[in-house]
Amino acid sequence: MTEIQSPDTAKPAGKIMLVGIGPGSQAHMTARAREAIAEADVVIGYVTYIKLVAELLEGKEVVRKGMTEELDRAVSALEAARAGKKVALISSGDAGVYGMAGPTFEVLFQAGWTPDDEVKVEIVPGASALNACAALVGAPLTHDFCAISLSDLLTPWPVIARRLDAVASADFVVALYNPKSGRRTRQIVEAQRLFLRHRRADTPVAIVKSAYRRRERIEFSTLDRMAEADIGMLTTVLIGNSHTFVRHGLMVTPRGYANKYDLDAGGDTREGEKPGRSLSTGLLGWLDTLQAEHAAGASAEALALRHRLPLDYIVSTLSEPVEAAELADAATAGDEA
Ligand code: SAH
Repeated sequence: MTEIQSPDTAKPAGKIMLVGIGPGSQAHMTARAREAIAEADVVIGYVTYIKLVAELLEGKEVVRKGMTEELDRAVSALEAARAGKKVALISSGDAGVYGMAGPTFEVLFQAGWTPDDEVKVEIVPGASALNACAALVGAPLTHDFCAISLSDLLTPWPVIARRLDAVASADFVVALYNPKSGRRTRQIVEAQRLFLRHRRADTPVAIVKSAYRRRERIEFSTLDRMAEADIGMLTTVLIGNSHTFVRHGLMVTPRGYANKYDLDAGGDTREGEKPGRSLSTGLLGWLDTLQAEHAAGASAEALALRHRLPLDYIVSTLSEPVEAAELADAATAGDEA
């Protein structure tokens, strides 16, 4: 028996693809991103990004939008997908990093969309500006890092400033997105002011403009001089942590191997450390020492101050002594590489 399909179910289901096209060059776009754009009936994006993928657009409906029309872009995408079209919404870098992915889901939810909807959503990841810029200057992100956008178009300045202060004091490497535009020139100066409260004036800073694009430009600076650099809308600013250094024109943040191995002595393991095991100052080793220091008379307050950790955290860890068996386990079990 043949089923009679209603015209409604016969309609091809539309799809929204949130495509991160990478920093800008064809070579750094993923195969899936290219495929997604090829599959699309409609391509929507900011004018600059449309230009970056111009050669992939033949025969497609192209919707060029201005910078501040993100919600419009998401609404247009949903309308087209509801009409059965495959829509590629393109973002530079990764669509989920200060990109269209968030606003699109907000618009979709507002319109009553759920993941069961006939309109499917696919997010195609791409190399974000921080990956691209880091690759051009060396290995600045090899330890814990943060991204902070200095754009106050949608975020209050005190929120941005608090985050800058927190990550500066916590010694993260930082990638500053949207550092400066024609109208927003003071934000970078304020960011510098907040960082200088916690970090040395000669902390390395890399300023990368238009990574993997025609006008690519890389400048090395230091924290005290970075605001004088040529910074614009297409720049990402990478600020090193207290261990980051620049050598032979490369910015490098150490992983921490020097904590465990004596690199000057041919890579011997330092006394008290074991290859493949947590550091002696790793969690369990540190807790064990903390207990011993407390037993020897150091107050919780003194320990909190010494380690720059909250008092209530120190108090609760002291109340849970490390079991001998736990320590023994830790000494034999390594991390997976
Ligand atoms: N979704 C993008 C970020 C958009 S926010 C991504 O994942 O990369 C826009 C900011 O990204 C710019 O102000 C700049 O700080 C950074 N940026 C984007 N492309 C860049 C490039 N090619 N070179 C340097 N910075 C870039």
